[in-house]
Amino acid sequence: MKFKQDFFEQLQGFYSQVAPLPLSNPHWLGWSQDAAALIGVDKPDDHLLQQLSGNAQHPQACYYAQVYSGHQFGGYTPRLGDGRSIILGEAQGPTGSWDLALKGGGPTPYSRHGDGRAVMRSAVREFLVSEALASLHVPTTRALAVIGSDLPVWRESQETAAITVRLAKSHIRFGHFEYFCYSEKGAKDKLTQLVNFTLTQHYPYLSQDAAGYKAWFYEVVKASAKMIAHWQSVGFAHGVMNTDNMSILGDSFDFGPFAFLDTFKENFICNHSDPEGRYAFGEQPSVGLWNLQRLAQALTPLIPSDDLIAALNTYQSELVGHYLHLMRGKLGLSEFNFNSDKLTQAAKTEQDKQDLQLIGRFTGLLESEQLDYTNSLRQFAYLDPSSVHSRLRDDMRQRDNFDSWYQDYQFRVGALVELEAWQQARAVENPKYILRNYLAQEAIIAIEDEGDTSKLEQLHVLLQRPFDEQPEHEALAKRPPDWANGLIMSCSS
Ligand code: AMP
Ligand code: MG
Repeated sequence: MKFKQDFFEQLQGFYSQVAPLPLSNPHWLGWSQDAAALIGVDKPDDHLLQQLSGNAQHPQACYYAQVYSGHQFGGYTPRLGDGRSIILGEAQGPTGSWDLALKGGGPTPYSRHGDGRAVMRSAVREFLVSEALASLHVPTTRALAVIGSDLPVWRESQETAAITVRLAKSHIRFGHFEYFCYSEKGAKDKLTQLVNFTLTQHYPYLSQDAAGYKAWFYEVVKASAKMIAHWQSVGFAHGVMNTDNMSILGDSFDFGPFAFLDTFKENFICNHSDPEGRYAFGEQPSVGLWNLQRLAQALTPLIPSDDLIAALNTYQSELVGHYLHLMRGKLGLSEFNFNSDKLTQAAKTEQDKQDLQLIGRFTGLLESEQLDYTNSLRQFAYLDPSSVHSRLRDDMRQRDNFDSWYQDYQFRVGALVELEAWQQARAVENPKYILRNYLAQEAIIAIEDEGDTSKLEQLHVLLQRPFDEQPEHEALAKRPPDWANGLIMSCSS
C-alpha cells in the first residue's frame, strides 16, 4: 500500500494529528477483495492486520482526524470532527486515490465523551452496506475490511470493539464547509483553501475562480440528487442524513441505523432515535435539498446567492430525472423515444409525468398490499407484459386495483420484439438479493455467539452479485421472518 498525503500537507489547520489506539487481539472478520483491488492490495496478511488495527505503523501513513461541524436533526452543532475515525492518508492504487480511514480507531480530540470505538455490530453493518451498495451501482464509500477484537466497550450493555477500514474518494463533508464558514476567524481564507483543494483533487477541469466555484456547486447539487435518486430506487434508507454525513462527492457515507425496505412503506423510519421521522425513507429527497441549502449558506462568502439559488433550483429536476431513468429501467418503460428529435420538449415532459404517475401508482399498490419492494420489482424479470397472468398479480389481494394499473402498464410497454432480452434487461436492473436487516443481524449474532464469520462471508459474497440468481441461496432473497419484523436500529454504535 502506497500513500500520498495531500490533505495532510496542504490543509494544515483542518485536522489534528492522532495515533490510533492499538486494538487487542485483532482478527479479520471480513475482507473485500473488490475494495482491495481498488488500491492494489493483494491479500489480508498479518502485517496489514497489525497496521490496520493500530498495532503497527505504516511508514508512509500520517494519522489524523478531520475537524468539521454539521446540522444534526435540524440543529447546528458548531464543532464535531472525527470522534472515532483516523485517516492514514490517500492510498494510491490502480483506480486512483482513496482516503483510507480506521473507523473505530480510538479517541481523537473530537471524541467529546465518546470512547473513539465502534462496536462490532455497527462495524460489520458498515462493511456490508458499503460493499452491497457498490454492487448495486449506488455511489458510495467502500470498505476494505472489518477487524474484530476482544476489547470490551460499553454501550447499553458490554460489547466488543471493531474497526471498519473505510475507503473514500474524499472524507470532505458538507459539514467541513459549515465549520470553516462559521467557526474560524478569517474564515474566508480557509473556506477558499478548502474549496480549491476539493476542486484540485476532484474537479481538476474547473477553474479556481468565481465561474469555477459556481460550476462546482451545480456539480455538487447534481451528484447529491443522483445519489438520493439511487437510494429511492433501491429502497435504501440512510437513517442519519445530518450534514456531517453528507459527502461532498455525493457518495453514500457514514452508515448507522440504515435499512433497505422490506415491505414498501413511504414513511418507513429505520432509526430508533428518529421518532418524528425526519429521515424517513420518503423524506430523503427533501432532506437532501435542505442539506444542500445549508451547504449553500456556508458558501455565500464565495459564491453569489443568486448563483447558489439557481443551482439549488436544479435539484428537483436532477433527482426526479434520474429516479425516472432508474425506475424506467426497472419496469421496462422504454426510453428510446427520448432521443428522437421528433419528440418535442412538451411531449417529453408529458411522457415523464405519465411515467412518474405509473411508477407512483405501482409503489402505491405495493404499499397498500404490504408487499416486499425488492421481490416485487424482481418479478419484472419474469414478467411477460403481453400476458394477463403474472406472479405480481397473484401476490395482490385487491386484484381490480392491480388490473387497472396493469392495463395502463401494458399499453405503455407495448408489443415486445424480444421478450427474453427484455426480461434479462429487467434482471440486471432489479436485484434479487439486498442487505436485509435480518440477514445482517444473523451474521452478527453468529459472530457474537460463536465467533463464526462464515455467515458474514456468505452474505458479503452473495451481495457482490445481487442481480444473479444464485439458486443455492434462494432462501436469502426472502422477506424477513416474523422474529425480525420491525427490527429497528438505534444511533448507538
Ligand atoms: P455519527 O452519528 O456516527 O455520524 O457520529 C456523529 C459524531 O459523533 C461524529 O463526530 C463522530 O465522530 C462522533 N462519534 C460517534 N460515536 C463516537 C464514539 N464512540 N466516540 C467518539 N466519537 C463518536
Ligand atoms: Mg458521522
